[in-house]
Amino acid sequence: CGIVGILGKSAVAGQVVDSLKRLEYRGYDSAGVATLEHGRLTRRRAEGKLVNLELRLSQEPLSGTIGIGHTRWATHGRPNEINAHPHATDRLAVVHNGIIENFRELKAELEAKGVRFETETDTEVVAQLVTHEMRGDKGPAEAVAAVLPRLRGAFALAFLFDGEENLLIGARRGSPLAIGHGDGEMYLGSDALALAPFTDQITYMEEGDWAVLSRSGVEIRTAEGAPVKRQRQQIPTGA
Ligand code: GLU
Repeated sequence: CGIVGILGKSAVAGQVVDSLKRLEYRGYDSAGVATLEHGRLTRRRAEGKLVNLELRLSQEPLSGTIGIGHTRWATHGRPNEINAHPHATDRLAVVHNGIIENFRELKAELEAKGVRFETETDTEVVAQLVTHEMRGDKGPAEAVAAVLPRLRGAFALAFLFDGEENLLIGARRGSPLAIGHGDGEMYLGSDALALAPFTDQITYMEEGDWAVLSRSGVEIRTAEGAPVKRQRQQIPTGA
């Protein structure tokens, strides 16, 4: 029910969790974070409150300077650790708020091609579909662009890619997602409140938008793939 993404300068896992705490008011049943450890995707997830995730992170810290995090309000699949986000393959990790309504058809299509699913969630089809596109010759942004039009339902999504230390991709349709602009750092969050500890410079993504973030900025595209400028706003501090 909450999404955070950080392209930072130092270890981000603690910041991701602090930001998720600001989204706790939305309610959730489990939480997780993924970062790149020496370029490789690594996850920690936990059922229940964020203190459980913090405990996990204190036992097994994550040092990556890029990461995504999630608080989950289960819609498909029990609220356990396996079904907690981020969902991951060898290529990417993804966090999702909302519902992928056609996930059963998409899952059946992929299973017929030999893809094996680990979880009971609707979200895992997104991870597997983008991965499938990347096993062709598509790069991360091209793969995401190919998959978004196939999804029915409501979503905010944030993607982190194995081996890509300077790339996050966000997308929204029916669920909110905001971009935060820092000083050599960039952020994604469900709302400006989540990003308030880091920056007051916010760009709200519009319906159907998807965004490619690096530490030097963001390129936003419409659902049709056309580059688009969205207003950057200064959010009053204390918001
Ligand atoms: N539908 C997804 C799930 O059940 C995401 C739920 C959410 O918005 O947190 O895992």
